Amino acid sequence: MTDCPSSPADRLASVLSTLRENGMAARISTSHSVLEAHSHGEAMDAANLPGAVVFAEATDDVATVLRACHAHRVPVVAFGAGTSVEGHVTPADYAISLDLSAMTDIVEVNAEDLDCRVQAGLTRQALNAQIRDTGLFFPVDPGGEATLGGMCATRASGTAAVRYGTMKENVLGLTVVLATGEVIRTGGRVRKSSTGYDLTSLFVGSEGTLGIVTEVQLRLHGRPETISAAVCQFADLNDAIQTAIEIIQCGIPISRVELLDDVQMAASIRYSGLTGYEPLTTLFFEFAGAPAAVAEQVTQTEGIALSNNGLSFAWAETAEDRTRLWKARHDAFWAAKAIEPTARVISTDCIVPISRLGELIAGVREDIARSGLRVPLLGHVGDGNFHALIITDHTPQGYGRALDLDRKIVSRALALGGSCSGEHGVGMGKLEFLETEHGEGTLSVMRALKNTMDPHHILNPGKLLPPGRVYQG
Ligand SMILES: Cc1cc2nc3c(=O)[nH]c(=O)nc-3n(C[C@H](O)[C@H](O)[C@H](O)COP(=O)(O)OP(=O)(O)OC[C@H]3O[C@@H](n4cnc5c(N)ncnc54)[C@H](O)[C@@H]3O)c2cc1C
Repeated sequence: MTDCPSSPADRLASVLSTLRENGMAARISTSHSVLEAHSHGEAMDAANLPGAVVFAEATDDVATVLRACHAHRVPVVAFGAGTSVEGHVTPADYAISLDLSAMTDIVEVNAEDLDCRVQAGLTRQALNAQIRDTGLFFPVDPGGEATLGGMCATRASGTAAVRYGTMKENVLGLTVVLATGEVIRTGGRVRKSSTGYDLTSLFVGSEGTLGIVTEVQLRLHGRPETISAAVCQFADLNDAIQTAIEIIQCGIPISRVELLDDVQMAASIRYSGLTGYEPLTTLFFEFAGAPAAVAEQVTQTEGIALSNNGLSFAWAETAEDRTRLWKARHDAFWAAKAIEPTARVISTDCIVPISRLGELIAGVREDIARSGLRVPLLGHVGDGNFHALIITDHTPQGYGRALDLDRKIVSRALALGGSCSGEHGVGMGKLEFLETEHGEGTLSVMRALKNTMDPHHILNPGKLLPPGRVYQG
């Protein structure tokens, strides 16, 4: 093992000189604008400049960086697109931010097996654009222009998870560079395997704390024959939630069912120029499949919505109308930001078993009213998952009020058997809730895994796991 000079600055300098000796000088940046762009993700102000940014172009680059960082005990945080919202990419002091966004190759597409292998820096939008001719698509669609590596790392999902699942269900295998620089492959191309520990699932959701993903084997899905989208507005939020719950309980294979409350809908109408809608609580629906199946789903859904006092069922008939609608849904965060452009928006995310969603949101609305803050609500309600976009000011007091509300929302979800994050992950923002959610014994096993796989804690330190007892066996 290389000797480690004591100061973090010296250790970082040693890593950078090793990288230069390995021909990577041109991929290192210490310019202020580049450091700043890698100092934070979205939504959380928690920012800290990395010591340097290194741009990887291949798995070997990542391995070279991690070997050097492991030897010199220098922290390293993987950076995809930086759209994560819980402080995931905020670097530790004197850390290297390892940017994978140039790793955008599609390694292979196996259309006949409905799978593909891509480099981790490719975005899901770019993947779908490039495989359009195959008739296949990748369905996991977080709102940000995220990379597939980042989406693996946060176990992302989106509006289509109710039908197609999350990254957990759609990743078949990975190439991962471990903390030591060793490269491994997990999983494979088959739909199922009963051999060995499921390391693919361990890395999916590990937020760059156990290894850095450089390639991802993904499941693809056939583009449906017919797609149809509709919108139903409600005078009462509870009626909209009850509609979503009944759709799921009836087993209707809906592709998307998204809720925007009245505050969010007003913001989205303004920001996205939606016409023909009132600023009322709204459900966006999408149905897909063979024409007869879609017609049946529509009839059932419309019946449920109208029996729950839905005001009207408006169709997005053309592909352009559908695109406009779903773009407005994906832009909801920016629409909420535009309510008060100079304010700060803290996006919290939690999930409960779907039957408890109405109870949760009713309690959350009371908490919001008491807080005096403006908080649009929206969510992937078909999964029991929703987001509160807490609008506050940039003062410590404003941040404190927002965090106080965030804690109340998450505590309610946990008390109802839920999770403090359905899709955004832990990062730094949700650390304080992990013990309540998982229990100290389970966290101690996670810490033992972390210590085994990253003994010097160089991989994204301070994220995902609060400090505490380590399971010793
Ligand atoms: C407007 C908006 C809407 C959003 N909507 C959704 C949504 O609907 N659903 C959802 O799930 N999320 C959503 N998000 C959050 C965000 O898009 C996801 O968390 C996304 O998965 C992050 O991907 P990224 O490439 O930006 O990763 P980054 O932000 O760059 O990184 C996220 C984490 O992953 C790690 N990481 C990145 N790349 C790798 C890699 N190759 N190997 C190992 N670790 C890595 C980082 O170290 C960090 O811990 C939204 C964000 C915004 C801004």
